[in-house]
Amino acid sequence: MEDLGGGVYRIPLPLPGDALTAVNVYAIAADDGVDLIDSGMALVQARERLTDALAKLGFGLGDIRNFFITHIHRDHYTLAVELRTTLRGQICLGEGERINLEAIREVHDGRSEPGFIAMLHAMGAEELAREIRLDMAPMLADPQPSLRWSDPDRWLADGTAIDLRSRTLRAIHTPGHTRGHVVFHDEPNATLFAGDHVLPHITPSIGFQPSITRDALRQYLDSLRLMLTLPDSRLLPAHGPVCESTHQRVNELLEHHETRLAQTLEAASGGPATAFDAAKSIPWTRRQRKFADLDPMSQLLAVGETSAHLEVLVARGQLTRQATLEGIDHYTVPGPALPVGADKDDPRPGCGLPGIAGRPRPSE
Ligand SMILES: [Zn+2]
Repeated sequence: MEDLGGGVYRIPLPLPGDALTAVNVYAIAADDGVDLIDSGMALVQARERLTDALAKLGFGLGDIRNFFITHIHRDHYTLAVELRTTLRGQICLGEGERINLEAIREVHDGRSEPGFIAMLHAMGAEELAREIRLDMAPMLADPQPSLRWSDPDRWLADGTAIDLRSRTLRAIHTPGHTRGHVVFHDEPNATLFAGDHVLPHITPSIGFQPSITRDALRQYLDSLRLMLTLPDSRLLPAHGPVCESTHQRVNELLEHHETRLAQTLEAASGGPATAFDAAKSIPWTRRQRKFADLDPMSQLLAVGETSAHLEVLVARGQLTRQATLEGIDHYTVPGPALPVGADKDDPRPGCGLPGIAGRPRPSE
């Protein structure tokens, strides 16, 4: 546990088997209780670590007043839901996550497949989708899904002021990493509880969520630029160490995505390419690994990221997208040639048509 001053503490909780290794929960201590930013994952080890850390501050789990959750990913949300079943803590979550919570419940009821798997068909990665389905089967057969994915007590609208008496936080919607991600800004104390929006050592995954949108990266880049319109703050991220400047890291992330956009454009410039094709010709991770050397889950994230970048290039007019009759999206540099697989007699206007089998839900 790290004492950050002013009654704020960083409590890393374990994520066994996850490359991230830990998720930071931030405790804000007051006279009559404690508020948490994010909760950790519903695991015995995480619950024990949180219990021990709060005990050092003179609190028990029953003293938690509120869980302010940055987004719906299980390493942030699920321990709060578990603790709420027996304790008084109230859960607050950005209202943009409603659609993701509904999609998660649909998945657990067997009514649909997670968007991040269903999307792989349109991305030209059906083979990978088959592998992922096998890998994820145990996780999707979660024994208590309804408990872990129940609604929060309060949905937070953009700009909501949260009065904790010792300080006031403002919930700011920052869609991108997920549709309903929020950060909590404490302007007078120049502190940003950033969740996974701005991470110091890695780039947050884009659009890895149950209800996917083509727009995820554009939203993310807008949400990054939004941070530059606020006064610079100390960055309290959900993974990794506390950093002095949010702005510095935001600028690095913006630069990173411009580099990736250039690489993605080049990968698609050789002819009609699917997201899967393009992902295979781009280096991955800070160690510049080949796509083929990544494990299936990392490949899924890589294909999703590539697709998100391709979509920004389409929005910028640097690429066009056309779907084949099978519903597989091909991207190409605008020009006279027709993409492979496109039918020039196809009367359907444009591309990205909804209703083709296996397509992800169209974005708004
Ligand atoms: Zn996350």
